[in-house]
Amino acid sequence: HKIIIAVDGFSSCGKSTFAKAIAARLGYIFIDTGAMYRAVTLYALEHGAIRSGIVDEEAVVKQLDKISITFRFNPERGASDIYVDGDLAEGKIRTIEVSNCVSRVSAIPEVRSKLVAMQQEMGRRRGVVMDGRDIGTVVFPDAELKIFMTADPAVRACRRYKELTGKGMTVTMEEVERNIRERDKADMSRAISPLRQADDAVVLDNSHMTVDEQMAWFMNEFQL
Ligand code: C5P
Repeated sequence: HKIIIAVDGFSSCGKSTFAKAIAARLGYIFIDTGAMYRAVTLYALEHGAIRSGIVDEEAVVKQLDKISITFRFNPERGASDIYVDGDLAEGKIRTIEVSNCVSRVSAIPEVRSKLVAMQQEMGRRRGVVMDGRDIGTVVFPDAELKIFMTADPAVRACRRYKELTGKGMTVTMEEVERNIRERDKADMSRAISPLRQADDAVVLDNSHMTVDEQMAWFMNEFQL
C-alpha cells in the first residue's frame, strides 16, 4: 500500500534531490513545498507587496486569493515544474532575491494555512514524497515515514553556490552562506510551525554522502 514520506530539514541540505530520487524509485509523486512558498514570494515581489526587501504582510495576505499555483510534470527533470498564474516559474523562484524574502513570507499565518491545505489535498491519495520544513510535524503528522535531513553548513553553502552559478546566476559564496544561515534561523524561530525535527523522524546527515549512498541508506533503513 502507498504511504506518505515526509522529508524535512535545514536549507540546502539536498532535500529535493533526495526526495526526488526516492519518488522515482518507488513510483511516487514528489512535491517540493518550498517551491510553493517561493511562488507566493515571487508573486509578492512582482505585484508590489515586497518593496526594497520590505514585506508588506497585509498586502501579501490580500494577494493570496488571486494567485494561482499549479504543478505540471516535466519528464526531462523527473519532477513537476511550478507555474504561477499559468507562467512557468521554476527559474524565477530560485533567485537570491526570492531566497532573501521567502522566510518572512512563510512566517505569515494566512500564507501557511493556504499552502498547507493545498499540500494536504495533494497528498490525500498517498504515494507522495513531500519535502519542506513542517511536513512531518504539521502537514502530515501521521506520515508513515519521516526523515529529517541535516548537513555541515559549509558543505551546504558550497552545494547551493555550485547549483546557482551552474544555472548562470550571479551570486557570491558570502551571499549564499548568509542566506542559508538567516533562513535557518528565521525558520526555526517563527511563531507558527517552526522548523523542527518530528519526534518520530529518522535523522540523515548527508554531509559526506553521494546521492547513491543516500539511496542505499534509505533502501536499507526502510526495506520498502
Ligand atoms: O525548500 P526551500 O529552501 O526552497 O524553501 C524555501 C523557504 O520556504 C524556507 O526557507 C522556508 O522559509 C519556507 N518553507 C516553509 N515550509 C515548508 C517549505 C518551505 O516554511 N514546508
